[in-house]
Formats: sequence, structure tokens, C-alpha cells
Amino acid sequence: MIRIGAARVAPVVTAAYVTTPRCAPAENAEAAVKAIRAGGLRVSAARRLVLEALYRAAGPVSAEDIAAGLGGALPRSDLASVYRNLETLEQLGLVRHVHLGHGPGRYEPATQARDYLVCEGCHAVAALPHEHLRAVREAIGRATGFEPRFDHFPLAGLCRRCRASAGERRALG
Ligand SMILES: [Zn+2]
Ligand SMILES: [Zn+2]
Repeated sequence: MIRIGAARVAPVVTAAYVTTPRCAPAENAEAAVKAIRAGGLRVSAARRLVLEALYRAAGPVSAEDIAAGLGGALPRSDLASVYRNLETLEQLGLVRHVHLGHGPGRYEPATQARDYLVCEGCHAVAALPHEHLRAVREAIGRATGFEPRFDHFPLAGLCRRCRASAGERRALG
């Protein structure tokens, strides 16, 4: 494997991935609250609201989405407090984040973490169960010894629709 700028790549690995999670991923917001309390931490109203937003959202959401109350589904909250709570929940192993495109990271319950595909043409996002990319991970592992993950930085490419319209342009061209 050719190493490119390892020193610059290293800081991308945040504390959440090097510290041992203290809670098992929880199936719902109530279970997450119980796990946090069992670990001896307090669950403030603000922290509970962040958990409710994450479990209610249809997919990964940004801190801004959560602070805005998911478009009216939940009360609004303070953005700085949302960020602090997301950081704590991620350190506890209850929450993960994924980078979909160039915007801020998006958060989801750790139980819902999947692999992601992002279209570079229309920015559509598709989520896949980890299982679907197992052969890809294994092939990369065999060739390089590297264990890739696609739930933090997704695979980028072209979706079916964008491939079709690129094909039409070539045919016309
Ligand atoms: Zn597309
Ligand atoms: Zn990240």
C-alpha cells in the first residue's frame, strides 16, 4: 500500500474512535437514557432532546437540524449545547457521525450505522447494510491489510440515474 501524507490523515481520527465506548449501542431513546444513567451520567432535558431527535430522524442529521427541532417535529434547542451533547454521546458509543458531501458531519444512533454511497452528480445518498460491502472490505483487506469502513466517509460515485444521463450525453455527443 502506498502511504500518502499519513501525518495529515491522522488527525481525522477523532477521540470517539480511539476511546473505548462505555455504553452498548441502544435500540431507542429510552434505552439510551437508561444506559447513560447506568454509566453514572446525568441526562439533562437538552441531552434527552438530542437523543429523541436522533432516533426520530429518518437518517443521519446535522447538529443544525437537531437545534432547529427537525423541521417542527421537536422543540428548538441551543446549537452549542447540541454539539456538546453529540460529542458526549459519541464518546459514550451511543452515537456516530458520517460525512455526506462537503457539509458538516451528520449524526445517527450507533445502532443505525450503515455504509453510505453518495452520488457526485446529484448528491443523492443511499444507505446499505454493512453486509452488502463485506466482499469489498475483504478484498481490500486481503490486498493491503487495511480494514476500510464506509460509515464515516462514504463511497462516492454516480447513481443509476446520473449514469444513465451521462450515457445519453455521450450518445448525443
Ligand atoms: Zn446521481
Ligand atoms: Zn468525522
